Amino acid sequence: MLSVHTSPLEQPGTGDAGGMNVYIQHTAVEMARRGISVEVFTRATASEQPPIAELAPGVLVRHIPAGPFEPLGREELPAQLCAFTAGVLRAEAFHEPGYYDLIHSHYWLSGQVGWLARGRWGVPLVHTAHTLAKVKNAALAEGDKPEPRTRVIGEEQVVEEADCLVANTQVEARQLVGLYGADPHAVHTVEPGVDLERFTPGPSSAARRALGLSQDAIVFAFVGRIQPLKAPDVLLHAAAHLLRRRPELRERLVVLVVGGPSGTGLEQPQALRELAVSLGIERQTRFLPPQSGEALARVYRAADVVAVPSYNESFGLVALEAQACGTPVVAAAVGGLPVAVADGVSGVLVPTHTAGDWAAALAGLALDPARRTELGANAVHHARRFSWSRTTEALLGTYAAAASSFQDALRPEVAV
Ligand code: UDP
Repeated sequence: MLSVHTSPLEQPGTGDAGGMNVYIQHTAVEMARRGISVEVFTRATASEQPPIAELAPGVLVRHIPAGPFEPLGREELPAQLCAFTAGVLRAEAFHEPGYYDLIHSHYWLSGQVGWLARGRWGVPLVHTAHTLAKVKNAALAEGDKPEPRTRVIGEEQVVEEADCLVANTQVEARQLVGLYGADPHAVHTVEPGVDLERFTPGPSSAARRALGLSQDAIVFAFVGRIQPLKAPDVLLHAAAHLLRRRPELRERLVVLVVGGPSGTGLEQPQALRELAVSLGIERQTRFLPPQSGEALARVYRAADVVAVPSYNESFGLVALEAQACGTPVVAAAVGGLPVAVADGVSGVLVPTHTAGDWAAALAGLALDPARRTELGANAVHHARRFSWSRTTEALLGTYAAAASSFQDALRPEVAV
């Protein structure tokens, strides 16, 4: 697996580490459980990182030096792809020739590396985009910077070169075909999963005690990287709107914002703090730094509702995790979220980003205990459909298809 710009060993929830890290970690471990050895190649970002680290039995992470031993912005990474690719190609020397059977690249930067490794090693390339620049640029948050043309061109090249493309949802599959000209037969829809052992329902009373929240609080939570695209500001505006309509809730409302800075614009939690002050809800808003999975499960259980107000979301693992913990989700009706959340069943989808619509959807759940309990129970049921084991089985089907189309692509050359 190739993951140039972020390592599965990093704590997700800040910077470039998010759902993709979780995805790679879980699918690699599931593959190893099935007897498949996995090596994840990622860029070395600190000199003390060992060249090889074990993520889990059967899963190695290779830190490839490419540029300075420090984190680099995404815009700086294209210039390091040559060095990174050289490091990846050299890795085969550690093994007998023909060691690798398949390359799975994650995000377009890795796709570029996979394109070369495919030719050099003579193995199929499967690519997952995770997010697409053309889609992101069509739904930018106010003040957010558009993705550069370099990325659009890079993505188009990888779509052309990969043997199979993995889309998170049918919507993304259609985008790959419609916006990027992908061959529909090469696009496989594989839904991501959720860790159903870690994210389980549990008493909200214990979770609230652990977080120092009162039992009668009304708790809205946002979990994720703090960036304009994720729109945590929409939740703050909605909370302020609700308090203007229902001032008697002022002493009970708590807005939990969990995660660290990432990307451009509203990336500074400081900017979000200032927004809370200007909206007069600083006493109601609590910020927590990125949390481990176990601590996140407590946050989800403590919340009445988890909000996912993103402007775009290729899937939205946070929505699944919250539901697996028995908490209904209010999510924007964008990207993969209508798959992650069953509208009116396990949560509510909101078609706009206006404070009024969000306040109504959040209050409609949090202030109606019977409805919240019903949707929370449905949410657990809904989330159970999405296991990493199921995702991995589907990926293995895609790998087999990629291997067979790779063989077909070779055939005319063999005949010559
Ligand atoms: N996450 C985490 N700690 C945090 C915040 C987020 O571990 O403090 C994880 C979260 O559990 C989820 C991932 O980061 O698995 C975010 O994935 P999602 O698909 O929601 O968003 P992305 O980061 O891919 O945009």
